Amino acid sequence: MVDNNYEKIVERIAKASNLEKEEVKRRVEAKIAKLSGLISKEGAAQVVCAELGISFDNERLKIDELLPGMRKANVIGKVIRLFPVRTFERQGKTNKVANFMIADETSNIKVVLWDTNHIALIETGKIAEGSVIEINSGGVRDNEIHLGSFSELKLSKEVLDKVKADKVVREKSIIDFKPMDSVSVRAFVVQAFDPKFFYVCPECKKKAVSEGEGYLCAEHGKVVPEKRALVNLVLDDGTETIRSVLFHETLGEIGLTQLDNVEMLSNQKQDLLGKEMIFSGNVRINKFFNNQEFIIESVRKFDLNELLTQLEK
Ligand SMILES: [Zn+2]
Repeated sequence: MVDNNYEKIVERIAKASNLEKEEVKRRVEAKIAKLSGLISKEGAAQVVCAELGISFDNERLKIDELLPGMRKANVIGKVIRLFPVRTFERQGKTNKVANFMIADETSNIKVVLWDTNHIALIETGKIAEGSVIEINSGGVRDNEIHLGSFSELKLSKEVLDKVKADKVVREKSIIDFKPMDSVSVRAFVVQAFDPKFFYVCPECKKKAVSEGEGYLCAEHGKVVPEKRALVNLVLDDGTETIRSVLFHETLGEIGLTQLDNVEMLSNQKQDLLGKEMIFSGNVRINKFFNNQEFIIESVRKFDLNELLTQLEK
């Protein structure tokens, strides 16, 4: 569900309703205006669909055609990543939830399973990485397909060779960031904090905790750790600000190289303020502060010429 698929969605609605594409767009925009911009283009398109009496209920869709708010989405995809089944407590009862990513030739999306019969397919190994599966009556929300007890999940005989397994990074405004999003945003650095240092196991790169005079890795025991750093930034794109985390590997990319030299670092931090760059990464919930934070994976210089070429298109 990347932004330029809006065109595809409009096309589909136009075809199903016999309206001109421009007319469909006009209706979507009117809907957004009526709701004071509180709804996304895709969400508004879904409302327009409903008003036109169009439903894609029994139609099989490609992943990039799924719209937020769909309740009966049918889709086929290859499982490209399977996450461990998790258990959680709710009202004194133990429940399970499972997730996997599926891909087709257009895109990929996360699927969330709530039904124990569906989850059993994973637990028994019937659905594994590489399996092609068919979903019927899935609910689409927040860029995920949710399967409840009314949804159908089964193996498909279809062969999917070329699937789009790359992470779908979407350009988004900070105000629209949601947990689990892979996003890129053009934003200004408005605050930069001092680095925090921590230690990792040289083998598995997981956190090593100090014990006595040495360091311990949960898996590798006593280790001579590597020193790592992270820096918190606050980014602002004009819609909202977000606290962000920049790890060791990317600090150099934004010009923070003198982490151990207080004075030089302070100058580098000063230089950073007000700089506009393109940041890509993942949104997650910071459990400690219970708010969203942005884990930056890569930083690109913002190139005005690039923007101009984009606008000309
Ligand atoms: Zn280790």
